Amino acid sequence: MKEVTEPSRAVPVMAETEVLVVGSGPAGLSAALAAAREGVDTMLVERHGCFGGNITQAMVGTIAWYRSERTVDAGGIGVEFERRALEMGAALDDPDGQGQLLDADMFKVVADRLVQEAGIVPVLHCFSVDAIMDEDAVQGVITESKSGRQAILARCVIDATGDADLAFQAGAPYSMLPKEKRMPASTTFGCSGVDVEEFLAYVHANPSRLSDWARKTSGKEDDLFSTWIAEPFKRAKDAGEIPADATLGGYWGGLTDAGEATNINVAHSLGVDTTDVWDLTKAEMEGRQKALWALEALKKYTPGFQKARLRSFNSSLGARESRRIVGEYVLTEHDVKNEARFADSIGIFPEFLDAYGEVIMPTTGRYFQVPYRIVLPQRVENLLVAGRSVSAEKVASSATRQMMCCTVTGQGAGVAASVSVRADVPCRRVSLPEVQKALARQGVRIE
Ligand SMILES: Cc1cc2nc3c(=O)[nH]c(=O)nc-3n(C[C@H](O)[C@H](O)[C@H](O)COP(=O)(O)OP(=O)(O)OC[C@H]3O[C@@H](n4cnc5c(N)ncnc54)[C@H](O)[C@@H]3O)c2cc1C
Repeated sequence: MKEVTEPSRAVPVMAETEVLVVGSGPAGLSAALAAAREGVDTMLVERHGCFGGNITQAMVGTIAWYRSERTVDAGGIGVEFERRALEMGAALDDPDGQGQLLDADMFKVVADRLVQEAGIVPVLHCFSVDAIMDEDAVQGVITESKSGRQAILARCVIDATGDADLAFQAGAPYSMLPKEKRMPASTTFGCSGVDVEEFLAYVHANPSRLSDWARKTSGKEDDLFSTWIAEPFKRAKDAGEIPADATLGGYWGGLTDAGEATNINVAHSLGVDTTDVWDLTKAEMEGRQKALWALEALKKYTPGFQKARLRSFNSSLGARESRRIVGEYVLTEHDVKNEARFADSIGIFPEFLDAYGEVIMPTTGRYFQVPYRIVLPQRVENLLVAGRSVSAEKVASSATRQMMCCTVTGQGAGVAASVSVRADVPCRRVSLPEVQKALARQGVRIE
């Protein structure tokens, strides 16, 4: 590859903080809230103009669609997101389960409010582009923004970028499937002009079941209701109205009394590397085209959608999978499916898997504990990794990538970072009983 050499230069330090969280999805937002609530100086840096990650940027509001009557759920900040959103008119009942469907736009305000109340120092429109290292220890990050290239120094850094950007830059071991084998990236969209009553009558007359889309289940999932929709796209393809190879099919999301379908998730792009700018560009543009084909098919073949109009696209491509660190422990499929218990638990998550065609729903009350070591990278100090890039094998990652589980690893990392700063010990050597005590005080269920 052709290269140029940048001249070395001094970079101004824009801020110093005790805990720095990079990325503000369910994981990063939870991490920053948890750390700040423990009383340490906390800064939250986000490359886009709002906090929330996939919730606000990719219209992924279904934070607990898995929840059933017998689910033993994680407590803590994820459930607080649902409650605050409900109180602030930023949520609808999720038609897919017993959770709240967070509204992509209103949740931006919920996140602002939570950040302000916790006293977090917010930085939006700020891209973290490199790790500042002193041998194996992260000292902070280099950022790029309209203010130019600047540094932020921190005593402990939490990588919640979803892509493990910082862990990668710091030289932590990670794994990444070939892009052809990764889960798709998606373009979600919203519509107005939907006759909700007519659409729901159609849905109830033609109900979808989980077995309509999941290739592998434990059997008990098969007859559960699902907001899956695929028929209109098949009909439009069969009629030659849209390309036969367009990857369309998914969930119709939320509906409002104002005739809106708020987050239709049916347009997917396969083989996308979300750490590659060329792939991102292509998928953004192709995704919008696919969403328009989907809308065409919905209008023609779906009762209630005849007069639907596009109102919004996601503001950024919805990414599901890229780098995962290889941490001090790698969570396994066996752990998730066999109620694993760990002495270093930082929270629990129900026995719920959804990815690679396999779905296990938490209808039994079974759950596993989430070990601290999956947020702890090997080799690199002063760094924790939360969210979808925690240390997990492929199948186990279809549990850890779930937004509620991202809030568990985020809150655990945030509290651990605060304990590390206060005790002035590396994250690797924090007192686990102290971390667990603080998490319990914050409403997290550890056992
Ligand atoms: C279409 C779609 C549907 C989904 N459906 C569901 C569902 O129904 N239920 C569910 O639980 N999960 C679902 N998921 C998965 C879920 O959304 C993700 O796994 C989850 O959001 C990951 O959370 P996170 O905090 O790790 O990362 P993200 O939500 O991806 O947030 C990462 C944040 O970091 C920021 N960032 C990234 N790099 C940098 C950088 N270098 N500097 C500064 N900021 C940076 C990003 O802008 C973003 O705000 C879905 C995903 C998609 C795409």
